[in-house]
Amino acid sequence: MSVLKVIAIDGPAASGKSSAARSLAEKLGWIYVNTGNMYRAATLAVIRSGVDYENEPEVLRITATMNFDCCIENNKSVARINGENVESELNSESVNRAVSFVARIPDVRNKLVALQREIGQKYSVVMEGRDIGTHVFPDAPYKFYIDASEEVRANRRGLQGQEDSVRERDRMDSTRKTAPLAIADDAMVIDSSDMTLDEVVDTVMKTLGLNGLIPAS
Ligand code: C5P
Repeated sequence: MSVLKVIAIDGPAASGKSSAARSLAEKLGWIYVNTGNMYRAATLAVIRSGVDYENEPEVLRITATMNFDCCIENNKSVARINGENVESELNSESVNRAVSFVARIPDVRNKLVALQREIGQKYSVVMEGRDIGTHVFPDAPYKFYIDASEEVRANRRGLQGQEDSVRERDRMDSTRKTAPLAIADDAMVIDSSDMTLDEVVDTVMKTLGLNGLIPAS
C-alpha cells in the first residue's frame, strides 16, 4: 500500500483528538477525516431500522444492505447513508450508547476501513479514530495518540452537553478482538489533560516540522 500523506491521530473518547485533527488539517490545508462518524452513521442506520444493536446477525443484515460513504465538503469528510448526509444525528445519546457494539463487528469494520483507505489514497488527510495508526494505515509516516485522564475526558463530554459513558466505550473499544483501540509502537503519545487545544496542535506541528513536513514555527 502506498501511503503518501496520511497523519494518523488515534485516542480514546473525548481525548481532544477531533478538535486537534480538525485544527491541524485546517493549518495544513489537508482533508480532515473523522472515522468515528462513519461508525456512528452505521450505528444510526441500525437504530433507525429498529433492530437490537447487540444482535450481531441482525446488525449485519442491516449494514450489509446499506451504502455508507463519505463526501468531502469544505475539506472535511461528511458521513452519509445511501447518499443522505446524517452528520447532525450522529452525537445523540442513543448513538453514543450503541456505537461500540456495532463497531466491534469485523464485517462492519472491513467495509468502513476500505472506505477510509480509499480516501487516504486519494487525498492528503488528517484521519482520526481508534485504529488508524495500527490498522488502517500502519505505514503512515506520522502517527499521534492523544490521551487525557478519564476525569478530564468525562468533563469535556459534559461541557459538550453530551451524555456519554466514555469509560464504558473505551473498555469495549480497547478489548474488542478486531483492531482495538491501541497505541501504535511508532506513535507519539500526547497527554492533553493539562494542555489547551492550541498547545496540542503546536506540539504536533513542531514534531512534523522536525521531521521535515513543514517548517517548525
Ligand atoms: O471518535 P468517536 O468517539 O466519535 O467514535 C465513536 C465510536 O466509533 C468509538 O467509540 C468506537 O467504537 C468507534 N470507532 C472505531 N474505530 C475508529 C473510530 C471510531 O471503532 N477508527
